Amino acid sequence: PVLKVALMGLGGYASRVADAMQACKKARITGLISGTPEKLTSWQQKYNVSAKNCYNYENFDAIKNNPEIDAVYILTPNALHHPQALRVAAVGKHVICEKPMALNARQGKEMVDACKKAGKQLLVGYRMHFEANTVDIIQKRINGNFGKILFFQGLSGFRIGNPSQWRLNKELAGGGAMMDIGIYSVNGARYMVGEDPVWVTAQETKTNSTLFKEGVDETIQFQLGFPGGAVASCLSTYNMNNLDRFFLNGEKGFTELYPASGYGPIKGRTHQGELNHPHVAHQTTQMDEMAAILLENKKPLVPVDGIEGWKDLVIIDAIYKAAATGKKEPIMY
Ligand code: NAD
Repeated sequence: PVLKVALMGLGGYASRVADAMQACKKARITGLISGTPEKLTSWQQKYNVSAKNCYNYENFDAIKNNPEIDAVYILTPNALHHPQALRVAAVGKHVICEKPMALNARQGKEMVDACKKAGKQLLVGYRMHFEANTVDIIQKRINGNFGKILFFQGLSGFRIGNPSQWRLNKELAGGGAMMDIGIYSVNGARYMVGEDPVWVTAQETKTNSTLFKEGVDETIQFQLGFPGGAVASCLSTYNMNNLDRFFLNGEKGFTELYPASGYGPIKGRTHQGELNHPHVAHQTTQMDEMAAILLENKKPLVPVDGIEGWKDLVIIDAIYKAAATGKKEPIMY
């Protein structure tokens, strides 16, 4: 069987996903949801989608009765994920949702509960969880190659351009760099260390309050403490380039991934040598693996379910709180 996916929100990232899905073996684009009729027409032709499986934001609840759609992949701006996921769950389809899954942990939990109630699965677009070099490192850490884990460093950032984009609008983005790129260091800290952090301290810096308005973070440095004693030191920013690096240190060895989360190729090494798994478009692997999760009940090495997405939001809520209070804040799941 093949997973029949409708893409919702035909923007920049949806286009990347759609192109990568052309190489999928287990997943196929069978539907489209967009508020722009011209996009529906051009994407229908480009990706060979039948016109009867195309919807807009007013009428998409009708997918309820469409057997040619198993799952909806939500690729809209962050603030829309929560209401759209609730609607998709209510009409009885699986939800695949881009990161961040919502604007805060409360919304994330509501999405988890709604999908559970509907008997449908909720997956979050954590493509790195399926990338071969990343999976190799995680497996090596599980196998004990690095010994007891002591330290993680995550650097995530880029210089943002166009000031009028939704990423710089608090209402649509829910924040700034942290909600967009900083989340890679939050999630990366968890899969690299292999534990969920229990405390956080954070410091915010803003050099440009015209571009980065109230509630839109430019740069945040944060530190996480893990139950096993490891600590992490991370940077999230919209004001520097060439930041996409993970470093993990343990009692027996280390690993460095640089770049660690860009579209690829991912490069890295450990104390034992270079990593050289060949590059495959992350979204191709992601969608084939998500099809296996949804259709064959496959368990991924690191989860990509709603709880995984919700945990990142619990941490991000605590990071924002710690940056505001200047205090060490507990992280409570
Ligand atoms: P984008 O601006 O290129 O696309 C967003 C799309 O949503 C546009 O087509 C826009 O028309 C549509 N849209 C629908 N309703 C809208 C509304 N009310 N206001 C504004 N736009 C509306 O953005 P993008 O880069 O494709 O990001 C979309 C989502 O994907 C975000 O949540 C982002 O965090 C995520 N993303 C994930 C990755 C990844 O690697 N996993 C990469 C890029 C983006």
